[in-house]
Amino acid sequence: MRKSLVRLAVLGMALATPAMAIVPARGAAPPQGAESRPAKVPPKVLAKGPSFDEVWKLRPAADTDGTPESIPTFRIKPLKPVDELRAEAGRARPPHEKGAFRAPDLVELGVTDPTIKRDIRYATTNNFVGTAFYTQARAFLQRPAAEAVVRVQARLRARGFGLLIHDAYRPWAVTKMFWDATPEAQRGFVANPAKGSRHNRGCAVDLSLYDLKTGTPIVMPSGYDEFSDRASPTFPGGSALARWHRDLLRAAMEAEGFWVNDNEWWHFDHQDFEHYPILDVPFEKLGQTR
Ligand SMILES: [Zn+2]
Repeated sequence: MRKSLVRLAVLGMALATPAMAIVPARGAAPPQGAESRPAKVPPKVLAKGPSFDEVWKLRPAADTDGTPESIPTFRIKPLKPVDELRAEAGRARPPHEKGAFRAPDLVELGVTDPTIKRDIRYATTNNFVGTAFYTQARAFLQRPAAEAVVRVQARLRARGFGLLIHDAYRPWAVTKMFWDATPEAQRGFVANPAKGSRHNRGCAVDLSLYDLKTGTPIVMPSGYDEFSDRASPTFPGGSALARWHRDLLRAAMEAEGFWVNDNEWWHFDHQDFEHYPILDVPFEKLGQTR
């Protein structure tokens, strides 16, 4: 597994970046005990759902209740023009964090396992703001989370599905832009940059399923990044087949150390998130080494 994944020269680059002063200026630190972790509000976690095999047995015989072919992309009305958002985020700095962290070890998803597909929405205008935020369509996670995603993919592949990654590690400046763009009433769906996001730590991933045979994205009860009740992982409406696909994704992720966000069926946090610092390194600076 370790050899099959692409190791990225994050730390060396990170030390040359002013925003990276939060990263310990040494090599890989040993895993930290709970007492040395930064104090954080405990995550709101939904109780684990049924196991993958239990969910699998509940597959509806046929989709007779009207799953649509696709759902249009949800859009907000941004509070500020994107140039202004970008300029403000460029001047801002991530919150200072106390505590010891592991050295970042970001691994690119979908490179060595091309059956993990990528549709990186923030590298396109097909997202909730309607603006491209990334100049490269890439997705990274810290190594333990990336390895877990590969195991999730193997489990799903055996049943005819694949993972479709929409976003993973997200530089802090992009989290700030999302927050500043989003009207206050809708901010329950975006992370507060004052605290940072688990995406900033390289320990959260936004993803869906695709049909392994056809390559077609699976339709879920809501679109990705839809700021509505339909996005809840427990939303009871929509078609039985869409709900089953959503539950199957969740069960596959929960089996490998992730938990689902209680507002967003597509967002999963990895159990190791507290061990990694908030990062603000753009994709362009994440080189590849062996
Ligand atoms: Zn997310």
